[in-house]
Amino acid sequence: MISGTNSIGNKASKQGKKTFKTFDPKQNKDTEWTFYEASSSEIDEAVALATEAFKVYKDCSGEKKAEFLEAIAVEIEALGEELIDTYCKESGLPQGRAMGERGRTMGQLRAFAKVLKEGSWVEAVIEKAQPNREPMPKSDIRKMLFPLGPVVVFGASNFPLAFSTAGGDTASALAAGCPVIVKSHPMHAGTGELVSTAIIKAAEKTGMPNGVFSNLNSSGIEVGQQLVKHPKVKAVGFTGSIKGGTSLYKLANERDEPIPVFAEMGSINPVVVLQSALENDSDAWATKYASSITLGAGQFCTNPGLVLAVKGEKLDGFIKTLSEEILKLEPTCMLHPNIYAKYNEGKKELSAQSGVTITADYKKDTNANTAKPSILKVSGADFLANTKLHTEVFGPFSVVVICEATAEMVNILNHLEGQLTGTILGSEEDLENNYGVVDALQSRVGRILFNGVPTGVEVNSSMVHGGPFPATTDPRFTSVGTSAIKRWVRPVSFQDWPNKLLPLALQNENPLKITRLVEGEYTKN
Ligand code: NAP
Repeated sequence: MISGTNSIGNKASKQGKKTFKTFDPKQNKDTEWTFYEASSSEIDEAVALATEAFKVYKDCSGEKKAEFLEAIAVEIEALGEELIDTYCKESGLPQGRAMGERGRTMGQLRAFAKVLKEGSWVEAVIEKAQPNREPMPKSDIRKMLFPLGPVVVFGASNFPLAFSTAGGDTASALAAGCPVIVKSHPMHAGTGELVSTAIIKAAEKTGMPNGVFSNLNSSGIEVGQQLVKHPKVKAVGFTGSIKGGTSLYKLANERDEPIPVFAEMGSINPVVVLQSALENDSDAWATKYASSITLGAGQFCTNPGLVLAVKGEKLDGFIKTLSEEILKLEPTCMLHPNIYAKYNEGKKELSAQSGVTITADYKKDTNANTAKPSILKVSGADFLANTKLHTEVFGPFSVVVICEATAEMVNILNHLEGQLTGTILGSEEDLENNYGVVDALQSRVGRILFNGVPTGVEVNSSMVHGGPFPATTDPRFTSVGTSAIKRWVRPVSFQDWPNKLLPLALQNENPLKITRLVEGEYTKN
């Protein structure tokens, strides 16, 4: 049952005066639930509890934290139909997507549990003492990773489960040993509340300290800002717009004690179509890309919003097929009227830029909040001269840039902002013959693909879902996959520390049996 309350640690609370409702975009009306925005004192209480919880939670063993994460997955599944129905109502997304995302959410939690049980993620490094070294004796120095402290996570609008309440940011921070305060996304506060109850049940069942998790409602930016400014908060995870992410990043850097903000923001995910792809597989790629651009109404951070190729008849054919195929697909409902309105504004603005031709624009009548796909084309010179054309239009939309030659393509890639992904379509020979393109693309992205579509992000230990600014605020990290745990930790060295008082991961006997770097060699000895 959705009650509209906040979770302040294990307690349900609704002291705030401000209320709001979530929206059913398919029915084009408010849902039946009323949510209570967290008050200033509830925010302070959640942070105080998280700070206390950290004192205990940071020292929980990997086994114990793994048990907690696995229990969350079990409790999420136990929410059954109510979770799926609420997700679909608040997002307009279909049931299949809801179930897939729930599976991914549980899979992420279990993947982090596995990492914790194995234990080597703490990166233990041991350099032994050499008391007789000349001219100076060498100390015994050992280091490993420790959790930062309470973390604030901003739920994402476009992934109500996998990037929200118990999503990748929360799972990785809890795995690292950091209590989490979620700033619930106002578009799916009901889904968030249900998942919060599952996390709290799991925390109670596995004996976690009260305050290891809190969930705060809000329908404006104040709650998030108070959280980011709070002196006891030690890091922030965010997925959303460039405007939101950069504003929180600035706020965090203006604090007396600046803290890291790991914001995953916009991306247009360039796709380079090389000659053999145009010559041999043009129609197949155009059809695949029509599906990728429209997948989830284009509301994916990896949506391919930019296609680059060299001019010619083959490219004209590719654009024609892409435009025809995209108009054959049934348009789908967007997450919220605000996102729908922003999509239409962005599409209109880019379509009106100098040199732009609209090659596809869905014209038939559709239901409320349903995004009509569109494809534009523009010359390389016009694209280069106008950075407005480089901006993300969040929805089923893409711009094809017609380059004079490969050199212009390289120049364009070098002028793009940082991106999450970049894709090359072609043959292995094309790759070998176009080193400049590959090099330019790789320097702009976190993940580079060959002959594929960027939508669909695998959750595993080798995934990088990140990239240079403004794709993210810190290109050294990923927000998807088990390496995401590295965002929430800092290294500490122990110098000449008594063996029995060292953390278990650093003791001589290696009681946790983890892989460590000892005197430059990876070993379990
Ligand atoms: P958003 O507007 O950036 O909001 C995300 C979250 O951050 C919300 O909870 C919002 O709070 C909060 N927030 C935003 N600006 C803030 C600020 N200045 N200070 C404090 N908190 C702030 O993103 P969204 O609601 O998810 O979607 C809107 C747009 O974001 C989309 O149209 C799309 O362009 C973009 N988006 C991009 C990606 C991507 O991965 N590339 C993913 C999702 C969305 P309130 O809502 O309570 O104000």
